[in-house]
Amino acid sequence: MSTIRSLSLAFATSLLLPSIGFSQGAFDGAPEGFIPPPLHPENSDLITQELGEGVYALLSSQPPIDNSGFIVGENGVLVIDAHVNGRMANLIQTRVREVTDLPILYLVNTNHHGDHTFGNAFFPDETQIIAHSETARIMVDFEEEKELILAGAGGRTDFLDGVELRLPDITFEDRMTIDLGGRIVELHHFGHANTAGDVVVYSRDARAAWTGNFIVGAEFIPPVFEPVTRSHLAATTAMAQTLDVDIIIPGHGRPTDATMLTRYAAYLTDLISKVRAEMAKGDTDGLRIVRQLPLDPRWYPAEGTPERGFLPFIEGLHRMNVLRTFQDLSLENS
Ligand SMILES: [Zn+2]
Repeated sequence: MSTIRSLSLAFATSLLLPSIGFSQGAFDGAPEGFIPPPLHPENSDLITQELGEGVYALLSSQPPIDNSGFIVGENGVLVIDAHVNGRMANLIQTRVREVTDLPILYLVNTNHHGDHTFGNAFFPDETQIIAHSETARIMVDFEEEKELILAGAGGRTDFLDGVELRLPDITFEDRMTIDLGGRIVELHHFGHANTAGDVVVYSRDARAAWTGNFIVGAEFIPPVFEPVTRSHLAATTAMAQTLDVDIIIPGHGRPTDATMLTRYAAYLTDLISKVRAEMAKGDTDGLRIVRQLPLDPRWYPAEGTPERGFLPFIEGLHRMNVLRTFQDLSLENS
């Protein structure tokens, strides 16, 4: 009897997905209520949107499934993010081919997570993959990345069939400039935010920036998956001071603009000061502080926006952000 019971419990847990005690990297020790991001691509499409001459966003038909993009010069194409599997990586290339026959010279991974990198192996051998040096270092742990993606996939694994590790060919630290032939693309690293190797791809001509997981879409709050809230805030401020942006194509969610940087900075500043105030009272229990500081309604997605339907996810994300901020500030005090 006890065997049957423990078996059925294990089965139920695998179906429901654990909400406490994640052991998958960035979600390690996630607080109750945290919902892993749903990144299974289902049957999602990518819709091409021209942002300027030769500059294109590829927007997911099912946000928050990943967005992508590409920039075309006289010599060839640069693609932003490889997506999660072969179907999606091939769909990106189909969308490129609807615009140009020029070779895909470069593919940029905006961070190491599998939904941005698992498509790498499906691009041509001659495509040079570019990432921050930290992204290349962390990507080596392929199995951990699979766990992270599967955490939000509702128990399905088939969409990762055939994915293989393909590491970057070129890495950089703070900044890199690529000339595609009459079209310049800038790559910027503003510091450790959602991941240690977050990259912003910037077209100065189109005043457009692709931000991966660093700045996510309209109406969301920043995803602080690692205990680096102060660094996340510094990176947000650095981006706001460095780039003139009319449109942000986030890794996830609807496109937004530079007002998102102001919103992020205000949210993160508020988060840091509230967690610091709780700690100043002598509270050393991070999970109790999480319960003390639920998401303030001022950060709710506006009524009538599609993101409003994601409120439970955003509230869970905020709980993670509080815990990670407690951990970050604990490092400050140690
Ligand atoms: Zn992502």
